[in-house]
Parts: sequence; structure tokens; C-alpha cells
Amino acid sequence: MAKLTVRDLDVKGKRVFIRVDYNVPLEEKDGKMVITDATRIVETLPTLKLLIEKGARIVLTAHLGRPKGKREATMSLAPVAVKLSELLGKPVGFIDDCIGEKVEAGVAALKDGELVLLENVRYYNEEEANDPAFATKLAKVADVYVNDAFGAAHRAHASTEGVARVVTARGGKAAAGLLMERELKFLGDELDHPVRPFVVILGGAKVSDKIKVIDRLLEKADTILIGGAMAYTFKLAHGEKTGKSLVEPDHKQTALDAETKAKKLGVNFQLPTDTIIGTPVDTGKLNKKGKPVYDFVDIKTIKGEIPDQAEGFSIGEETAANYAKIIASAKTILWNGPMGMFEDPRFAAGTNAVALAVVEATQKNGAKSIIGGGDSVKALNKAKLGDKVTFMSTGGGASLEFLEGTVLPGVAALSEK
Ligand code: ADP
Ligand code: MG
Repeated sequence: MAKLTVRDLDVKGKRVFIRVDYNVPLEEKDGKMVITDATRIVETLPTLKLLIEKGARIVLTAHLGRPKGKREATMSLAPVAVKLSELLGKPVGFIDDCIGEKVEAGVAALKDGELVLLENVRYYNEEEANDPAFATKLAKVADVYVNDAFGAAHRAHASTEGVARVVTARGGKAAAGLLMERELKFLGDELDHPVRPFVVILGGAKVSDKIKVIDRLLEKADTILIGGAMAYTFKLAHGEKTGKSLVEPDHKQTALDAETKAKKLGVNFQLPTDTIIGTPVDTGKLNKKGKPVYDFVDIKTIKGEIPDQAEGFSIGEETAANYAKIIASAKTILWNGPMGMFEDPRFAAGTNAVALAVVEATQKNGAKSIIGGGDSVKALNKAKLGDKVTFMSTGGGASLEFLEGTVLPGVAALSEK
């Protein structure tokens, strides 16, 4: 059941209402809000250029921050319109509301290939409540609906779901943008029919965050490699000591069940054989949130149990080398969750070694490598390897839900081909 995409649409002269992800980081400088990272705006350019070429009249809608139903001046999308105009090299109008007469007049004045950005939809509480009357008001300027905000598709809000329903109920089309199309292709089709061997690398903080993904991927993968703090809950479940490591004692059974399922299905399920540990010491300082700041001393690699006073922070070199060897034989790779606390350079080596192995499998063996999860993407970018994998999801929480097999409301609302 493939979804309709912008490629399939005839939009000449039509008003295309497109939901994008312009939730960009802003900083105040000399009383003005300045965009500090325009990646999300840049990423929408292919879809916008295609729509411009096709002669659509483009109405852009997005949210910024959490204004909680109020007009927060610091969360206005006005600076985004300026930036987008710069990037496209053509004017982008801005309307300081997302519904009402001003919007209707502004959109009526659009010529083919012109664009206008509406103000933050979350200035209205009705957006997150997916209020049908609000969705109908938004849809007043929509002949066609396009969703290119995969990162917001796991929420049934008025601009991500409600408008699509209104437009399609009137006989109009709701389609995926090019960004959304790529997310559905790589996190969906490619993983549903993986070229084998299919190796899944799972890490991050918690078993409970990832258990649904583990459960679903056990049915598809040939091999699952576990890293990150998640590995320590498995250790604990085996009756091993984990010291002060981040563990979830309530999820010991969850971990054991995953291993049992792996055995039953013949999945090669690997846990780390060595661990980089450190001993936390209170520095006496407090962070911005008033919590004590710890430093770590006596950092070393161990095998087996983690001593009482110590904490595990990453997979060790032996594990990284073993995982790298397995990754080298893969034809499809999915990676979700870093192998350790990579934000601290002392604990980044394991994550970086796995990243390098994924890049090599991609570049040398033609493996398809797919990276999902906000922190995994950060880790790859930090290692400057982001552009050397096949696909990095922009979805964060939405990609995790999609990988769990959840039908995302923003995707479900799109028309079938
Ligand atoms: P993603 O966003 O890619 O899905 P997660 O949010 O599940 O990944 O996990 C990422 C976080 O897990 C990172 O902030 C990282 O520091 C943390 N983490 C990984 N391993 C450890 C560890 N051994 N101890 C503490 N934190 C860890
Ligand atoms: Mg995360």
C-alpha cells in the first residue's frame, strides 16, 4: 500500500497546503531571533522546488517550540520565511496567522509557483487537540494536502492529520513530500524486504524504550547487536553485578524474553563481551538544573561483572571489533541507539568504531545502511560520517514509533497511490 507522493500530483494552479518541519533552533541576538541551524529548512527545498516547477501555489505550515496556545513572539516563524527566501532565491511571503481572512486573502493573491509561510500553528491550542473545526479552517486554503514533516507524523494534530482528512473527504488528494517519501522507503519498504544478511544494531539508554523495536526486528533480522546502557539490563537479568550503571531492574524479564525469542527464531543475538567503566566522583558543583555534576576516574576496560563503585559507559574494544566483523558481512544494516555515552569523548570510541564499520560496509560492499533515532544521528554527525551512510532518518521519536510497527496518524491520513 504505497502512499501517493508529490511526484504523482498534478498541481498546476492549485493551492497546495504543505506541512513541514521548521522547528529550528533559535537564539536571541540584539533583540532579534536568529536561526542557529537551518538544516530542517534546507531539507525541504527539493519538495518545494518540485512544487514550484509544477506551478503550485504553495501554503507552508509548521510549528515552532511549545507556545501552548499563546502568541509567543520568540516562537514566531517569521525568521524562517526570511531564511527560506534566501535559500530558494525567491520571495516567500509571511502571514502572521494560520487561519482567518488574512490567510485567505494572502493565499488568493498567490500566483503559480509562489509561496507563503503561515504563522506557528501551535499559537492555537486547537492544533494539538486536533480540533475538527480548526482543521476545517486551516483547510480553507487547501486544494491539495502534502505532508513533508515525518518527525511530526506520529502525532495526530490538526495540521498533521486533521487537514488531510478534511481535504480527502472533499475528494482532494493528500500526498507525501519527498522527505516523507524517503523515510517511508527506507524505514518501511527496505526493512520489510531486506537484502540479507540483515544486521540490526541497537543501543541507547533503556531496554524499555527499545523493546518494541527489538521484538519486531527479531522477526526480520539475521543478527542483532546490543550496546549502550541497554546491555546492562541484560547483564543484570543474567545475575551479574552492574555496579552504578544505568539499569532497569523492572525489565529483567523483558530482556530474558527477547533472548528466548531470538533463540527460537534462530537470530544471532549478541551482547557486549567487554565494557568501559569509570568511577563517578562528586565534583561538588551543580549543573544549570541544580543537579550535582560528576566526573569519572579510574576509566578502564573490563570483562564480566561491573564493580560496585563503578559505572558502565560503553562497549569495549573487543566488542567493537567483533561487531565490526559482523557488520562487514551485512547487506542491510539498521542502527538505532549509540553504543555508549558518546557525548563524552572518553566513551565515544566504541560508537565511532561501529560507525566506521557501518560506513565501510556501505562504501565497500554496497550494503544499505539506515540510521534511525535522534542521538544515533547526532553520533554519526559528530564523527563526520553522516553523509557516508545510505539514509539517516530525520524523524527522532517518529522513526522509533515507525520502527515499532505503529501506524503513524500523519502517514495513515495520506491517500493511497
Ligand atoms: P536514539 O536517540 O538514537 O534512539 P537513545 O535516546 O535511546 O538513542 O539513547 C541515547 C543516549 O543513551 C545517549 O544520550 C547516550 O549518552 C546514552 N547512553 C548510551 N550508553 C550509555 C551508557 N552506557 N551509560 C549511560 N548513558 C548511555
Ligand atoms: Mg534519543
